[in-house]
Amino acid sequence: MKQGKCPKCNSQDVYSNCNLRYKTGAYNSNTIPLTFFRTAGLDNYICTACGYTESYVTDAAALERIKDMWEKTEHNQ
Ligand SMILES: [Zn+2]
Repeated sequence: MKQGKCPKCNSQDVYSNCNLRYKTGAYNSNTIPLTFFRTAGLDNYICTACGYTESYVTDAAALERIKDMWEKTEHNQ
């Protein structure tokens, strides 16, 4: 999807907010809450043909925080 192609419908109408300023601001609340004071901003890729969305946390410090705070998923097979 980062290459501009939707994995669901193969459309190339993929839009992203990565280069927008203030993506963690109130009007672009593309964030995941980490603590009461801190959020991780998300780079979103949205296909305007089918609506499919991918989100990426790009802040390395936020990713480290998530490793501390969140539960790792288990592979059962
Ligand atoms: Zn699509």
